[in-house]
Amino acid sequence: MTIAFSKKLSRRNFLLASSCAIGAGSVAMMGSRYRALAASKHVFELDDLANRDVFTSCGMCVNKCGVIARVRNGVIEKLDPNPHFLKSRGMLCARGNAGLDTVYSPDRIKYPMIRTGERGDGKFRQASWEEALDLVAKNLQDLAEKYTRAGTVFVSTEGYQEHFFTTFAECYGSPNTLRHPSLCLASNIQGFGATYGTNPTPDVLNADYLIMSGANRSEALITPDSIDMLTGEGGKRKVVYLDPRFTKTAAKATEWFPIRAGSDMAFILAMTNVIVTEGLYAKQFVADMTIGFDELKTHIEQYTPEWAEAECDIPAADIRRIAREFAAAAPRAVYYQGRRSSFFDNDTQMRRAMAILNGVIGNWDQPGGMVPNSSIVLERHDYLAPWYDGVPPRLDSGSASYLSEKDGSWKYFRDRVIEGKPYPVKGMMIYKQNPLVSVANRQKTLEMMEQMEFICTIDITMNDTAYYSDVILPEATYLERLDPIESLGGILPVVTTREPCIKPMYESKPNLWIIQQLSKRLDDEIYASFDFTMEEYRHHQLRNRPDITKALKEKGVFYEKTTPTYGDTYGKRLKTKSGKIEIYSEKYAQKGLDPLPVYSRPADIPEGRYRLILGRNAYLTHGTTANNAYLHDLMPENSLWLNAGEARKRGLRNGQVVKVTSSLASEQLKLFVTEKIRPDCVFMSHGFGVITSGQRLLQGKSGSDAALIEDNVEPISGNIAMHQTFVEIHPA
Ligand code: SF4
Repeated sequence: MTIAFSKKLSRRNFLLASSCAIGAGSVAMMGSRYRALAASKHVFELDDLANRDVFTSCGMCVNKCGVIARVRNGVIEKLDPNPHFLKSRGMLCARGNAGLDTVYSPDRIKYPMIRTGERGDGKFRQASWEEALDLVAKNLQDLAEKYTRAGTVFVSTEGYQEHFFTTFAECYGSPNTLRHPSLCLASNIQGFGATYGTNPTPDVLNADYLIMSGANRSEALITPDSIDMLTGEGGKRKVVYLDPRFTKTAAKATEWFPIRAGSDMAFILAMTNVIVTEGLYAKQFVADMTIGFDELKTHIEQYTPEWAEAECDIPAADIRRIAREFAAAAPRAVYYQGRRSSFFDNDTQMRRAMAILNGVIGNWDQPGGMVPNSSIVLERHDYLAPWYDGVPPRLDSGSASYLSEKDGSWKYFRDRVIEGKPYPVKGMMIYKQNPLVSVANRQKTLEMMEQMEFICTIDITMNDTAYYSDVILPEATYLERLDPIESLGGILPVVTTREPCIKPMYESKPNLWIIQQLSKRLDDEIYASFDFTMEEYRHHQLRNRPDITKALKEKGVFYEKTTPTYGDTYGKRLKTKSGKIEIYSEKYAQKGLDPLPVYSRPADIPEGRYRLILGRNAYLTHGTTANNAYLHDLMPENSLWLNAGEARKRGLRNGQVVKVTSSLASEQLKLFVTEKIRPDCVFMSHGFGVITSGQRLLQGKSGSDAALIEDNVEPISGNIAMHQTFVEIHPA
């Protein structure tokens, strides 16, 4: 057994990682309500009462923007952006500002709880940590004996402490982990990875020409892209935006095309056709850095702009013009790949088409192009998972063509749990994930959970999934924890810190502590992989990097460089099999997949129905922020967007409550009648519609997309394809 690092060294010399004092700043007036709450409920110690400004990282979404927390008299009164964190350009979004409510929300899970009633009815009793941890450990032991260690699935989402949870799964011996990419980026990573060997970052700041397919960056915020997209340099920036809906990004774009949902690939292939047939591609680059261009040339002949016009409702003349403009702006031109789960079941190939188009204009590793990520390497925490005999492979093995071993496929995995094949999975450990809101086909998720003999949720606030659990363990929030040092890769890689601003309130504990306590109860060999303090862990991460240690203390972030470098990959092999950009994928051909993207038209919308499309807005991080009091004030519910002409035709009014029915469920939502959506689609925001009473602001309001959306699958990545559901609308 190897353990993390030498205790002799680390115990004595660990990084003193408390707050970093900087000059006092302005303090907002948010604190009074919190002070009252904190004083009444929270037993805090004297050193909490100090006034201080703490460098830390936002935990409200994946971007991890730098924060300065203003702590006054033991209360976090305000969160300000850390101006040294370049990636967020000195900004905290509404969610970042509203992070205070995560700490002080009345819906926080305050102590360990054990279910006393039926699953989902919300009857729990308070338990001691000792009792709750003993119960979880006993169930993990029993499940291993009855069903092998693969009989428990570990479900989580990204975060600074997720690593401990997935490491625990590995040390416990389960191959079954379901992670965030399986509900998000999986097709994107696969499509770009198959082409470039990596998923590069678009250099939005320096691009003169951006094309975005439904990547609604004005609302689904990704720093710095959301900000850079709007700023541009010298007014040269052109943004072409394709979306069935007139979003806030459409409003900011140079041109918006209400594309037919599911036809983006047709547009991309037709653009490629123009650029290739008119000889507008980067000839030298293509010759030096790509393979398969000749096959592309032949393949692309069928995809003319005139053909594409009939598919995507964008005039052929515009497609031709945009293709020419795009090629002329190259290499400072990007077809932006976006994020999110899959739109349709061809999503991986659609992302491949984007990667190929970017490839032929030669924007690879150039200013304003697609730039490979770099990162600052920290010392790794080594651990050795015990070996267990007789543990089968992942339950969803052999499902998707390119299934990620660590992330899995929610769709395939859940189906197999319900079938009970090829083996039973009867235990569920959940960390920071709420699949009853975040995974399509909620009824199936409930069915999966009903089959579980034991469910434990570790989270901060109550939610539907916690209500369906047997044991709930309260985690400390990101403003109360000391977390691992985080290295964020990108064009400008950065190292960030997360420091506790106050002590954990109530009986909440950091995830690492919870994992350590469970490990101790299970096996010494498992515990050996977690036998360290967080301070030791961080000290080890920063071994031999006094420069990072100093910068984190003085500025809360560390950058090795503040301007990007380009072209580092030129003359070197890329991480593909051929070492080049693979326009034609031999790897896909060998798996029986199309080696070049082949367009197939999405199913026609049946008469009398609409295609349901989903998206986010700037106040919601999926299902996690809808119950935040500040954000709830800004957006108390979701509504159903319906085209004004359709509403007139059907005699429906703005604000009227309608019943929205898919093949799976009916939900009630208020209508938002607007010209800003195609007549064949309706839209709703993701993240609303709860079934339990754990989130009091949301109860009885809004509709759930997870209930309505069918679990169609993208078969290459195993992602769920979110825009293939049709709905009927009737007055409620
Ligand atoms: S984008 Fe907003 S929510 Fe996300 S990390 Fe930055 S401030 Fe926080």
